[in-house]
Amino acid sequence: MTTLRVVLGDQCSEALSALDELDMAHDVVLFAEVRAECTYVPHHKQKIALVLSAMRHFAEALRHRGVMVAYTRLDDPANTHSLAGEVARMAAVHDATRIIATHPGEFRVLQDMQAWSSRTGLPVEIRDDTRFLCTLSRFRAWAGEKKQLRMEYFYRQIRRSTGLLMQAPDEPVGGQWNYDHDNRARLPKDIRPPSPKRFPPDAITREVIALVEREFADHFGTTAAFGWPVTAADATAALEDFVAHRLPRFGDYQDAMAEGEPTLFHALIGAALNVGILDPMAACRAAEQAYRAGHAPLNAVEGFIRQILGWREYVRGVYWLRMPHYAETNALEATRTLPEFYWSADTSMACMRAAITQTRDLAYAHHIQRLMVTGNFALLAGLDPVAVNEWYLVVYADAYEWVELPNTHGMALHADGGIMASKPYAASGAYINRMSDHCRGCVHDVKQATGPKACPFNYLYWDFMSRHAARFSRNPRMAMPLRTLAKMDPAKVAAMRAEAARFFDAL
Ligand SMILES: Cc1cc2nc3c(=O)[nH]c(=O)nc-3n(C[C@H](O)[C@H](O)[C@H](O)COP(=O)(O)OP(=O)(O)OC[C@H]3O[C@@H](n4cnc5c(N)ncnc54)[C@H](O)[C@@H]3O)c2cc1C
Ligand code: SF4
Repeated sequence: MTTLRVVLGDQCSEALSALDELDMAHDVVLFAEVRAECTYVPHHKQKIALVLSAMRHFAEALRHRGVMVAYTRLDDPANTHSLAGEVARMAAVHDATRIIATHPGEFRVLQDMQAWSSRTGLPVEIRDDTRFLCTLSRFRAWAGEKKQLRMEYFYRQIRRSTGLLMQAPDEPVGGQWNYDHDNRARLPKDIRPPSPKRFPPDAITREVIALVEREFADHFGTTAAFGWPVTAADATAALEDFVAHRLPRFGDYQDAMAEGEPTLFHALIGAALNVGILDPMAACRAAEQAYRAGHAPLNAVEGFIRQILGWREYVRGVYWLRMPHYAETNALEATRTLPEFYWSADTSMACMRAAITQTRDLAYAHHIQRLMVTGNFALLAGLDPVAVNEWYLVVYADAYEWVELPNTHGMALHADGGIMASKPYAASGAYINRMSDHCRGCVHDVKQATGPKACPFNYLYWDFMSRHAARFSRNPRMAMPLRTLAKMDPAKVAAMRAEAARFFDAL
């Protein structure tokens, strides 16, 4: 009786359910580096290197413990280059009698997995992914018949059930569930964020980077600055570095942006969490411990825990609740082609240039850059959601569809019509100017809305509001900007719309 236990690239976790009750004498654990997974979208080179390196390190750790590992390398001549192909091939090689896997993160992989049984003639058991705090069935039950889902209520329920930052069963520490209002400061000139710990590539990672540079030379991004954790030990060290040096100010400057500061006080743990080498509960516990030890204030710790316990779990729930139709909606009927500068960073807009340049070099941008700069531009310009979703899935080291899609399609683009967010996150240049220093060095003038020097975010914002005024009039949360629009001199609105039209023509 040989069981083939499949570990996918983003499942490099000791506690993976597919590895539960492993029979060391008979079971074989399969890892497969396949071209189909590297190219279904042309991922950033750092993302491919990170996943392949995490797989190789995890497989090595299992082998050391005496586990029988079947490992297909990308350059293996026998590689069929698809997951289904490698599962079938290895099931035959090892004479497997059944297959066990953990529920994948992406809908297309689940469909693939559901066909493994007919392809191999073997029973396939797909186990829950217990690395998440909320099971999909629990999320489904919570969502029930609710007309509107809101992250905040989901988050409170998970706080109650985990006991994180709770002082009594229904009493959050500090008396408040959410300190978001305290998390909106601009970065003062005299505060320089400490650089995050980097993990210089070891021999395995260097070999993988060379492979990626050879096989995926035309993919977006550079690998020179690769410094991601690729093992559980590295990921724990990255978390400790964040908790010790950046968590205390994470809350205050969570929404800030600054020229030359690509990471500010953020954790940079998304890639490690999503590939499976860091446990989300361990990250939350470490932050809670820092609060209880008096090392970090409540607004920082609650803000951080809310991202992981709340947003991360919530977007996964929404993804699996709504797929596959979720990806097909286009509530704002946006159809414009993605401009070339999303790849080249060749744009006069300093805020966009900074976000895209660091994305290319680091496979990273923090939340506000993704939402309020590149996402906001895509929303205002009416860029086609399919192209924008693909861009976000390509360019970040932490990008997997279950988390990328609700954030992009729902939160940034409002293409889901309001499932993820009750109103579009649309903003003019004033927001970017308030939260960053980008405007100071920009050729555009953030105070101008028309004319050759005008900030594109200004006229695009009002053009967007005018285009969708009728649609948004049914949304009470859009009442304020619509009132402002209604009071504006029609000639001014016409001039901004003409400016927007010229801008689009030149794109
Ligand atoms: C348009 C858009 C696309 C995004 N695409 C992705 C993606 O592909 N993968 C991804 O992991 N996150 C995505 N996010 C969410 C968020 O931007 C990243 O998780 C975060 O920037 C990762 O960096 P960090 O580890 O430094 O996060 P921090 O800001 O330090 O936050 C800590 C952790 O909280 C979690 N988190 C924070 N915000 C969110 C969120 N909105 N949704 C889910 N988890 C969250 C992440 O695990 C993150 O590592 C996206 C957000 C937007 C607006
Ligand atoms: S002026 Fe406008 S385009 Fe330039 S950095 Fe500011 S918001 Fe961005």
